[in-house]
Amino acid sequence: MGDLSFRYAALTDVGLRRHENQDSGYASSRMLFIADGMGGAAAGDLASSTIANTLRQMDAEVDAEPREVLAGAIQRANDRLGDLIADDPSVEGMGTTLTALLFDQGVFTVAHIGDSRAYRLRGGELTQITKDHTFVQTLVDEGSLTAAEAREHPHKSLILRALLGRADNEADLYEEIPQVGDRYLLCSDGLSDMVTDADIAQFLGEGNVDQAAVSLVTGALEMGGVDNVTVIVAEIVAADSPVDPELSCANGQPQLVGAAAKLPRPRTGNAPLPSGRSLDDEELRYAPGEGKSGTRTRWLVIALGFTILLIGAGWAAYTWSQDQYFVADFDGEVSIYRGVQTEVPFIDLSSLVSQTGVETATLPPYNQQLVDGGITAGSLDEAQAIVDELRGLARIETIEPNPSPSPSPSPQISGLPSPSPSS
Ligand code: CA
Repeated sequence: MGDLSFRYAALTDVGLRRHENQDSGYASSRMLFIADGMGGAAAGDLASSTIANTLRQMDAEVDAEPREVLAGAIQRANDRLGDLIADDPSVEGMGTTLTALLFDQGVFTVAHIGDSRAYRLRGGELTQITKDHTFVQTLVDEGSLTAAEAREHPHKSLILRALLGRADNEADLYEEIPQVGDRYLLCSDGLSDMVTDADIAQFLGEGNVDQAAVSLVTGALEMGGVDNVTVIVAEIVAADSPVDPELSCANGQPQLVGAAAKLPRPRTGNAPLPSGRSLDDEELRYAPGEGKSGTRTRWLVIALGFTILLIGAGWAAYTWSQDQYFVADFDGEVSIYRGVQTEVPFIDLSSLVSQTGVETATLPPYNQQLVDGGITAGSLDEAQAIVDELRGLARIETIEPNPSPSPSPSPQISGLPSPSPSS
């Protein structure tokens, strides 16, 4: 095997629904990465561009061992994120995914945290070489959800690990050995949520790297483009192969796209009020510790909330509880409540928001039990998504009294975080 190099192209689009691009992407002859920021308002793009700009500086470092270089750069970038949060409480909770490939002597060192993805296309076969750090992926690993069901799950965008400026989240680090002819794709979930793997394989293989990047982004937009969509495409070639002057990478310059490519702008400091804020699902994407210890954490937080309530700072805890929602039965009907389902003497912490017209009795027995116990939701949107799913299950029961075995029965609901503190 002779020496290798690669052609590259980076492309992003804000998508059809969002006003801001919170993704940052980068491609050079040595490094490829994507960072998908989260945190609402301007914080998500600040997070992804902070990580991107720190990593970009590292691109010039040549002498250290690649794994050390990459891990060190991620640490510095994460520390920088922590400093920004310490300086400006209005960006508390911002964070970013990161998927980075550092090329050195024919080997990619991969660093990955979050739900952005890296794929390899070799001989027409597409392989995802990163593993999503998401709630639904843990359910797939446990065997309680199929990959197809995961794509439709109401909590599919819930991330378990991301760079948050704290010390407790580490990136996966490993090596990937490329071959001549391989194509690599790094993408944000704005692509992988919209476009199936089969279509990704087709688009990624089309034309040269620039044309493949355009096909992929166009594909995501044609499928709805609900999120920012960013792709980094690389094609492995022999190091001595001539460069096609038509390619965007022919000038040898790095390509930076998305949030990190915009001019720096000052923070407004206008943090949205905790209550009455707009419900941006990006804000709700990351649930600290959700999954194995998530329920425990949530109830710990609730318990802490009530301790505060009881010692006199009652208003803050009450306000917090009113940003929570749950789905439960009211008068035989699936209903959405605001608040939390814990009883504190003399204080009512939940109120009915709406009834949904779905009769609890028309649900499959397992889902009836869930509704009777109450299903927690982190937002009104999330509660609505749970109701939509229940509505689908109820309809199946009503229209088909003797249904043939359904391809997707209750497991999707069974995958919801348990509303019970006893799990
Ligand atoms: Ca995204």
